[in-house]
Amino acid sequence: MTSTAIHTLIPSPIAARSQGACSERPILKERGQREVFCGLTGIIWLHRKIQDAFFLVVGSRTCAHLIQSAAGVMIFAEPRFATAIIDERDLAGLADANEELDRVVARLLERRPDIKMLFLVGSCPSEVIKLDLSRAAQRLSSAHAGKVRILNYSGSGIETTFTQGEDACLASLVPELPLSAKTDAPALLVVGALADVVEDQFARLFTELGIDNVHFLPPRSSRHLPPAGPNTKFLLAQPFLTDTARALEQRGATHLPAMFPLGVEGTTAWLKAAAAAWNIDADKFNATVAPGQRRARTALEPHRFRLSGKRVFFFPDSQLEIPLARFLYSELSADLIEAGTPYLHKGHVGADLDALPATTLISEGQDVDKQLDRCRAAKPDLVICGLGLANPLEAEGFTTKWSIELLFSPVQGFDQAGDLAELFSRPLVRRARLEV
Ligand code: SF4
Repeated sequence: MTSTAIHTLIPSPIAARSQGACSERPILKERGQREVFCGLTGIIWLHRKIQDAFFLVVGSRTCAHLIQSAAGVMIFAEPRFATAIIDERDLAGLADANEELDRVVARLLERRPDIKMLFLVGSCPSEVIKLDLSRAAQRLSSAHAGKVRILNYSGSGIETTFTQGEDACLASLVPELPLSAKTDAPALLVVGALADVVEDQFARLFTELGIDNVHFLPPRSSRHLPPAGPNTKFLLAQPFLTDTARALEQRGATHLPAMFPLGVEGTTAWLKAAAAAWNIDADKFNATVAPGQRRARTALEPHRFRLSGKRVFFFPDSQLEIPLARFLYSELSADLIEAGTPYLHKGHVGADLDALPATTLISEGQDVDKQLDRCRAAKPDLVICGLGLANPLEAEGFTTKWSIELLFSPVQGFDQAGDLAELFSRPLVRRARLEV
């Protein structure tokens, strides 16, 4: 990582999409020192989602400690992730890491016949010794053919941010999906890991709308991989799935651009994008979503009282920052100072970006010292940031929210709107109590 920052303030090329004045807003681009977790972190929520998959990190003791601490104190009878440790002999080239890996995988699969999909997850150490995990996955797939699918992706922290682990994992799954044809019935694919409860709510809403050929990626079981092809229209449920979206588009699937399903407005816009693609009648749409909208508005009310007018600063971490900033601004009347995000994919977050006020600074990438200076000068009421920055900022008297919690909690959809708002209002309540 370099500490030399390159700052540019350039107009956004999104003007061509002509979605309003905010599309043309300047974006502060920074390329300096960053404070983010690596892509291994995604294993914590992915292993809960694909219930017959196993994630084998090929890494160091540091990698093993990272996922253990990110997972918290969990005791598993049958864990679904582990680390194959690359030790000094491997790093010095004294041992054949491929042979070791084959032995570890054979032992694992012998002990755990319940594993139907195995992800070999690359790390900084495996990249440094140039261990070719895609060849290893092919070799091991042939050796264990018929029993388990073996795939690979990189969760390395070299120039990546923590949610990219999910993107890399799902992108590695796309070539495995059954290919559907243009002549097949149109199908909706929801892309991005959602808590099961949220997935069930969305599935019910799509059925009520009359959209019945609906699939989710990732699936709950590796035996139920959703089809994808030219008859597929897909909605992104998470804003950090650039590579996965590209891989689906290369298969002929069509992305339905929309706001992300956070809060009342985000969820309505997201569902409406699917309804429009399926030519659902406006009255039917409004009648279907009205009960959920009512529940969500009621749940948001007490939090709007706490968050209205509060000055909020986002450091770049999860790539959820732009949709979350949109939610705080348009649904809870918060005052946004800066919305920083590691990467800004305007084709994916454009609708949320366009809803942000022109007064909010949008920054992409990070030069942490300069951003900390901006934050201190602005004296925000609430800072949303990674774990590494939260404690020092709290010690300086700032109120913070860990952005990683927003990934671990079910936050999408009408029925989670109140819980999402509470994740932001709780630190303010805690601070107010401390000051009494
Ligand atoms: S993958 Fe890299 S950044 Fe992540 S824990 Fe391992 S060594 Fe650290």
